[in-house]
Amino acid sequence: MLLFLILVCTVSSETSLRQKSLDLMSRKRLIDGHNDLALQLRIFYDNQLSKTDLHHVNQTATDIHRMNLGHIGAQVFSAYVMCTAQGKDAVRLTLEQIDVIRRLCSEYEELELVTSSAGIRNTEKIACLISIEGGHSIDSSLAALRMFYELGVRSMALTHNCNTPWAESSSKKYSHYQRTNNSLTAFGKEVVKEMNRLGMLVDLSHSSWETARAVLLVSRAPVIFSHSSAFALCNSTRNLPDDLLQLVKERRSLVMVNMYSGFVACGKRGNISIVADHFDHIRKVAGVEVLGIGGDYDGAQMFPVGLEDVSKYPALIEELLRRGWSEEELSGVLRDNFLRVFEEVERVRDASTKDLPGETQVSLAEAGNSCRLVLQPPKSEPLSKGAQPLFRSFLLPVVCGMLVLLVRFFI
Ligand SMILES: [Zn+2]
Repeated sequence: MLLFLILVCTVSSETSLRQKSLDLMSRKRLIDGHNDLALQLRIFYDNQLSKTDLHHVNQTATDIHRMNLGHIGAQVFSAYVMCTAQGKDAVRLTLEQIDVIRRLCSEYEELELVTSSAGIRNTEKIACLISIEGGHSIDSSLAALRMFYELGVRSMALTHNCNTPWAESSSKKYSHYQRTNNSLTAFGKEVVKEMNRLGMLVDLSHSSWETARAVLLVSRAPVIFSHSSAFALCNSTRNLPDDLLQLVKERRSLVMVNMYSGFVACGKRGNISIVADHFDHIRKVAGVEVLGIGGDYDGAQMFPVGLEDVSKYPALIEELLRRGWSEEELSGVLRDNFLRVFEEVERVRDASTKDLPGETQVSLAEAGNSCRLVLQPPKSEPLSKGAQPLFRSFLLPVVCGMLVLLVRFFI
């Protein structure tokens, strides 16, 4: 009888925790800092939206049905292009990824493209935000950065897995633009300054710790790590060590915890409890105000048991409630902390209206890209080449005719 009562009490408290999680999430819908659905649309459908129905997609961890089950209120979609496109067609590919995100967010009535914190607050739909994942997408051009902003991009990761000529990646996978003691060049600082002026979120998730520290010191606005976790629990360079977490706290910035097994369980599959440990740790080191969620679904292959796709977020919130997290703390994690940072970024933009657009350019040597066009006047060609047919067909008979007339006049 006692066992039966204990069982009944356990089941009913679990049910009430799940219900509490769902109730909270329906009031405070999640802002998810990172999702790579657009990359999968490129891989599976070559960006042809007509070839699929995004309400239900078997091959991906993200579709509209599961976003609704996951109580997602806003999704930052990544316009990611591979590092191997750096110095080649990265800008075109990025434009195409932005195009597909813009189209999916207008063709499906459940989604709405937004470009401001107010846009997130005001929509009843799932708000779509566009981010660029890697500075290689702007090809070291502040003008390209500004044009991406015009297209609705509101966040850019300074690097992906490759260095750019001006910032350093957390990964050593690619050997381009290696540098020592120069993790953010003068041009890199100009990029940050321009992003501050425009009102774009600076994302440091894929950057080296040295680059991250340098940016945190120069940025006038708070920054985000859109999909990173705690290094103390999983020693990946994509995660943040404790001293960096403290700097994030000082700069009122944001760490949006990544769900990918490789970054939370270090190669093992892991479970919800392991992900919750990252939240506990970051809260302990830097306070709850720095926390958000950036799932990284469809950007990675293996996710913990119970967090397999975007529909599973309520299970994570349930676990944090079980650990004693308050509804106020979780409201911050779900959306309020992101909105605070985004609004601060917009305030910095509004205070910068007198600043002129940056016109700094990287030198050809710094860009290190042989594909760059060098502007110079076209080489002058010998006039005779083009003039010969004209001379033969028109000028020659006229001149000869005039000579004949002249000779006849005098004799
Ligand atoms: Zn990523």
